[in-house]
Amino acid sequence: MAIFKLVFWAAIIAEMVIRAPISRQQRKEAKSEQRVSAQEKTILGFLFVGMFLLPLIYSTTNWLNFANYSLPNWAGWLGVVLMGFALLIFWRSHKDLGLNWSPSLEIRKEHTLITNGIFGYIRHPMYASQWVWVIAQPLLLQNWLAGFLNFLIFIPFYILRVRAEEQMMLDRFGDEYRTYMQKTGAIFPKGK
Ligand code: SAH
Repeated sequence: MAIFKLVFWAAIIAEMVIRAPISRQQRKEAKSEQRVSAQEKTILGFLFVGMFLLPLIYSTTNWLNFANYSLPNWAGWLGVVLMGFALLIFWRSHKDLGLNWSPSLEIRKEHTLITNGIFGYIRHPMYASQWVWVIAQPLLLQNWLAGFLNFLIFIPFYILRVRAEEQMMLDRFGDEYRTYMQKTGAIFPKGK
């Protein structure tokens, strides 16, 4: 259904709108550390293809139709609800992280460790939001390449990114981050 495609693109625009002001400001911030591996750059490229380029081709041409599948209507609506949930977490994590956000692994000179707001429950709310996104995407875009592939691409990104990011945070914040790790889960809140 066309409405599901529309919801997907509305969500892309919503993420851009949420991120734009932070992205613009954080570029001006002085950095004390940048850890961007070639491996990560490659996966980020794949994510761009899975999250944006293939959906764009799917939505504007019929080239990818050979890879279509069809789900019952409720699955599409579930995708709509999940997408709303993903955006809510995405918005909240940007609000809490503020200028400490960066597109790749960076620490700014004035970096502060955020442990409040949504970061009081989980260490990686933005990646949690991305997990919900990659589940919602194949429900909204019912195509193996434009919908489902992004889920597969996200798995290695998540594993590598979290490992490198937590190492970087430990190197910078030491015991403060170690204590924070004990109190929080990565993407699911820690049970008592
Ligand atoms: N992993 C987080 C943040 C993603 S943005 C999330 O999923 O929401 C990546 C940048 O956020 C990293 O370069 C790091 O500098 C910063 N960062 C991650 N956790 C942080 C925290 N608790 N406080 C401050 N900055 C953090």
